[in-house]
Amino acid sequence: MAALWWCPARRSGLIALTCRRGLAGILRTEAGVGTWCVHGIDTAIHYDYDLLVIGGGSGGLACAKEAAKFGKRVAVYDYVEPSPQGTKWGIGGTCVNVGCIPKKLMHQAALLGGALKDAPHFGWHISNSFHHDWSKMTQSFQNYVKSLNWGHRIQLHEKNVKYFNLKASLVDEHTVRGVTDTGKETIMTANNIVLATGGRPKYPTHIPGALEYGITSDDLFWLKQSPGKTLVVGASYVSLECAGFLTGIGLETTTMVRSIPLRGFDEKMANLVTDYMEAHGTRFLKKCVPLRVTKLENGKLQVTWENMDSGKEEMDTFDTVMWAIGRAPETKGLNLEKVGVIVDPENGKIIVDNAETTSVSNIFAIGDIAEGRPELTPTAIAAGKLLARRLFSNSTELMDYDSVPTTVFTPLEYGCVGLSTAKAQEIHGDDDIEVFHAYYKPLEFAVSQRDSSQCYIKMICLRGLHQKIVGLHFIGPNAGEVIQGFALGIKCGATYPQLMSTVGIHPTCAEEVTKLHITQRSGLDPTVTGC
Ligand code: FAD
Ligand code: NAP
Repeated sequence: MAALWWCPARRSGLIALTCRRGLAGILRTEAGVGTWCVHGIDTAIHYDYDLLVIGGGSGGLACAKEAAKFGKRVAVYDYVEPSPQGTKWGIGGTCVNVGCIPKKLMHQAALLGGALKDAPHFGWHISNSFHHDWSKMTQSFQNYVKSLNWGHRIQLHEKNVKYFNLKASLVDEHTVRGVTDTGKETIMTANNIVLATGGRPKYPTHIPGALEYGITSDDLFWLKQSPGKTLVVGASYVSLECAGFLTGIGLETTTMVRSIPLRGFDEKMANLVTDYMEAHGTRFLKKCVPLRVTKLENGKLQVTWENMDSGKEEMDTFDTVMWAIGRAPETKGLNLEKVGVIVDPENGKIIVDNAETTSVSNIFAIGDIAEGRPELTPTAIAAGKLLARRLFSNSTELMDYDSVPTTVFTPLEYGCVGLSTAKAQEIHGDDDIEVFHAYYKPLEFAVSQRDSSQCYIKMICLRGLHQKIVGLHFIGPNAGEVIQGFALGIKCGATYPQLMSTVGIHPTCAEEVTKLHITQRSGLDPTVTGC
């Protein structure tokens, strides 16, 4: 073997070999590797892989595993940059390690506390006062999360997907550089590249002390000791869910809201969610913005904020300050600019078309880093699977991001699918929509005399088009379980008369949806009475 020509800087060149029919060789260019022989250059470029996926979270793993089903050569890069406070975790991405899974388990821990309070009404003797043990809880949850990390590695191995625990970036449109913790580099080429690097929590770096003393959701789930008295800044999914379960396990918890809670959701529902939290122990600092965090000699954190109503500065001390002010896409280290992958300069998200294709035709982006996509695990998974099918099995099916159901796991859960009232009014006009609603009492709240003032359902229908349902909103126990089934009906174009002919399951909260008959327009009392 002899190099006829070789450029080490570009790792390109022509290498001569012999073949059965004479002279042959390997042609390596920045675009990939090809073979040639005296009978003519083999024009097909041979890449190391059919698909390289950068990011082993919800979207990336789903895409890689689906591609491998079609017998393709697939590899996944997953690397977790430690949080500013030094927290690190394994493969599986945000959902598994610092998102949906530990969050839902902590929500469940809080719900169990509520059940313990109800239990005496159901005949249980709870002899001693009960208290919550943070370390015990996190130990159990972390063991479970680690089992999921292990499960992902096993699955990749079984499906013949190569896993690289390397931080990846693009070299060109077919080449990926992977770097280890110690700086060792490897280069791989592929026909197609999928970017699925997700996002990380934002820090308000302009606020003195924010980065130095604050944590984010990336740290909360892995804290060895209880966070104690906590301030959670922000008023969306992450903030309200975390503040909700911290309150539920007995910690003094404050939420700082600078404008409205749950922006983008139905306003009335969002207010009911926070009303319930407020009535059940979470303190809300409304219309307040943080100014600085300082550490006192006793180790406590003193937070100063501006009350925008009074214009005055106020302060309090906390054991923990958690920023839940949104997430930034992990696109900065990917070398996108050099390769020509266009990002939205406002938020750093990658611009994609409806087939998840970026501005470079063989590079795709799915999940939280893609512009305009819901930041939810099931949408990232579905987008990844469908993309793999389009790339490798002649499918043309696109991901439908319309009518994606979601649930906010606050102490009283809020699930919804479709339009909010405001959005429906904007699209269809107030005269062309009918809003049905009801306040109801879950049976499980009745005996223990739990407050059900915020248990509320709202359904938005068109007045024409057979009264098609365009939005359903439910606040109450197990909202996610309730909304999931109705989401199918709404996706299939369900109408109000069809829902009214659906027989309810008694006694459930979900059956209340099938009984909605009071319209907001009528002004009648929407409180459900009787069975
Ligand atoms: P991720 O799952 O974030 O995966 C990206 C992976 O890429 C990560 O492992 C990352 O470390 C890795 N990576 C980044 N850069 C590189 C690189 N250069 N090289 C190699 N690897 C890299 N969604 C729900 O549907 N339901 C919920 O209940 C829910 N709860 C949530 C609770 C919290 C607290 C948070 C923060 C999020 C929650 N989400 C929930 C959102 C959900 O977690 C995300 O939408 C989902 O994880 C996005 O998947 P993804 O594949 O886009 O990215
Ligand atoms: P988010 O939806 O972007 O909300 C950010 C919140 O922080 C808003 O309330 C915002 O207030 C506030 N904020 C922003 N900057 C601030 C500042 N400097 N000071 C004070 N407040 C500030 O972010 P998120 O809650 O982190 O959620 C991110 C995504 O994760 C969500 O879109 C969701 O898709 C996903 N997620 C899903 C679930 C679930 O499915 N159950 C759970 C958690 C997360 P303004 O409204 O005033 O801007």
